[in-house]
Amino acid sequence: AFHLARRLDGVGFSDIVKIRNRIMELRAQGARVFQFEGGEPFLNTPEHIKEAMMRALRENKTRYAPSSGIPELRAAIAEKVRTRNRIPAREEDVIVLNGGMQGLFGAFQSVVDPGDEVLVFSPYWTPIKDLIAHCQGVTVLVPTAEARREGFAATLARYASPRTRAIYYNTPQNPTGVVFTRAEAEEVARFATERDLIVIADEAYEDLVYDGEHVSIASLDGMFERTITSFTLSKSYAMTGWRVGYAVATEPWMTGLRKTTLYSTNGVSTPSQWAAVAALATPVSFFDEIRAEYRRRRDLLVAGLNELGFHCEAPAGAFYAFPDVSRLGLDSRAAADHLLERAQVATVPGVVFGEHGEGHLRFSFSTSIETIEQGLDSLRRNL
Ligand code: PLP
Repeated sequence: AFHLARRLDGVGFSDIVKIRNRIMELRAQGARVFQFEGGEPFLNTPEHIKEAMMRALRENKTRYAPSSGIPELRAAIAEKVRTRNRIPAREEDVIVLNGGMQGLFGAFQSVVDPGDEVLVFSPYWTPIKDLIAHCQGVTVLVPTAEARREGFAATLARYASPRTRAIYYNTPQNPTGVVFTRAEAEEVARFATERDLIVIADEAYEDLVYDGEHVSIASLDGMFERTITSFTLSKSYAMTGWRVGYAVATEPWMTGLRKTTLYSTNGVSTPSQWAAVAALATPVSFFDEIRAEYRRRRDLLVAGLNELGFHCEAPAGAFYAFPDVSRLGLDSRAAADHLLERAQVATVPGVVFGEHGEGHLRFSFSTSIETIEQGLDSLRRNL
């Protein structure tokens, strides 16, 4: 009989699909659903970025581009990464990719052999486990709360083994909004150096930091050579559907990223790349404006959740609140169902992000102020 290649056995699908299907059913029955389950910016792609794509089309910039990206975009990325992230990258250390996901895919494919272990701070962004499974690697969860309580070096040492090959380091973090401090980054860097580990850094939310600073771990002394950093335009410029991201790495990892790209997508859509050049030229004051918008939403949602008895610290970055909903006396899947059925409030169960997320729900505050107000109101009236 037919069977799927064994390599894909351990690779799963997203749980969010099920939640989306239920939302569609409720809608079809005429219910108004307050959506907090999403993972994308509430704003539209800025006009000057759309204009740049239309200009590229009119100028017939529609043909094959180099697989690693058009030189103009790679140069703009190298400049951005040097000035804003303080990573000493040259143009040849940059590759343009289909969103952050392709950078992470290529990074794990380049680093992880079957049986290798990867340390992943948990709760964590779920696809990471599937990306590691795709390499027949092993995900080893390291509770972020434990690391913060007991120190990163001691905690990482407890979860590391002779098979440990890499650390996945996501800041700001999805789903918790945790932003690792410079001191924490330094501790992780020291551990990686001592054990000769590779760091796969995921900085998808780099521009959405409200408290503290974003530190790229590859900018720390000696770390550029052992770090693959994945970036994306998706969250920073409200470009989730454009599929443009990039990774920064040195050899041998860049060769791995080039090979996985060449034989999968063979590069990013040429007009999207011209739009990305315009995006990266956006004055950084743009981020002051959008951060102010996100912060208003964060503060409103976090205050409302705490009033409801769902303990929630203000997330320092990204656009997710991750309250403790254990007062409901339900596990997180049942709690998410409860909120959806009783109050038409859609969230993501914390356990989807690993066992350390149990007892929590993920609420995105990347939505309208009105949705946040009305969703909270519905929770007050119906729970
Ligand atoms: N990394 C994290 C932590 C994310 O939350 C996401 C998107 O949700 C990505 C990477 C991937 O983003 P992209 O849409 O650019 O593939």
